[in-house]
Amino acid sequence: MARDFPALEQRVNERRLVYLDTAATALKPRAVIEAVTQVYARDCANVHRGLHQLSQRASAAYEAARAALAGFLGARSQEEVVFVRGATEALNLVAASWAMPRLGQGDRILVTALEHHANLVPWQIVARRTGAILDVAPIEPSGEVSLDVLASRLTDRTRLVAVSHASNVLGTVLPIREIARMAHARGALLVVDGAQAAAHVRIDVKDLDCDFYALSGHKVYGPSGIGVLWARAELLAEMEPYQVGGDMVADVAFEGASYRAPPHRFEAGTPNIEGAIGLGAAVRYLRGLDAAAREAHERDLLEYAVSTLEEIPGVQIVGSPATRIPLLSFTVEDIHPHDLATFLDGEGIAVRAGHHCAQPLLEQLGHSALTRVSFGIYNTHADVDALAEALRGARDFFS
Ligand code: PLP
Repeated sequence: MARDFPALEQRVNERRLVYLDTAATALKPRAVIEAVTQVYARDCANVHRGLHQLSQRASAAYEAARAALAGFLGARSQEEVVFVRGATEALNLVAASWAMPRLGQGDRILVTALEHHANLVPWQIVARRTGAILDVAPIEPSGEVSLDVLASRLTDRTRLVAVSHASNVLGTVLPIREIARMAHARGALLVVDGAQAAAHVRIDVKDLDCDFYALSGHKVYGPSGIGVLWARAELLAEMEPYQVGGDMVADVAFEGASYRAPPHRFEAGTPNIEGAIGLGAAVRYLRGLDAAAREAHERDLLEYAVSTLEEIPGVQIVGSPATRIPLLSFTVEDIHPHDLATFLDGEGIAVRAGHHCAQPLLEQLGHSALTRVSFGIYNTHADVDALAEALRGARDFFS
């Protein structure tokens, strides 16, 4: 697997690169690099407008990428796939185009305490501007979200439930199907922030029965600056555009404009063509792998990492959810996460340290910063061993 990822061929600080920061951004396989290069080297044109060969090729590849994403997400049709900048923009789109015009005084939005800022701040703004109330369901000490707690926070005024499919700090995988059932029973819609889950969990939006699903290309081995908002077709059909300009309009006069049907209505201006095509290549690459083997590999890595880290004195893993994507946040006694990350970088090991864009969660957990390691399909036991050795070295160095 690792041989598909040229970034792993480099040395960092004269060591073999051990990349444990996939939750921040995944490395890119050759298939993605080649797809993006092909756009620049050959099919370099704007989409949907040109009559010439290059534009036709670029347009066909762009729409083929949309179809690939529809397949990856289990969408009913590719018209449900809107290309956006990433999960952040997808969530902002739902906030601006669905929630803002529909919510009013006393309506409620429900989130959980483990949300990334991208799935929290847009709802704070909606609440502030519309008079809606933002409810936050607390999490269990294990890092799990209790369905009973969620149920107790749902009311008949809850219009929207917005939750992560998987936490970027604790790794917790949320029971989306059950949450959808509970939300719908109260007449609320469910927005899922799939930024972290999409690289690890098989997604079928029909089966999950959510209403919106957001993902970022760069976290599923694709380019950055591209992502997807999936939404049920009937919701997209009734939503106003998010941004306006070229390409999303059907007819324009000085007096006004009519808009194209979704998804184009939500893609104003020249899109990130090479990003979308690269993302299409990424999900084709992923779907070309044996899903069960991939999941088993990631599960094995996670278990190995937990048992290895648990043996290192002074290391404390944060949270213990029963189902989690392959990432772990932890503390090391007497070493600040930033110092630790810098030390590990010196050993050629890339990790993440900080509040992970989830400051309210970290505050609840009683930390201002944590160190996080996150695994991708290219990681191995040797990477975990290198981490363990370096952590022991850090303990000696900082003592
Ligand atoms: N949601 C979660 C759970 C994330 O981990 C992230 C990124 O780390 C985001 C949303 C935002 O993703 P992006 O910055 O790619 O828009």
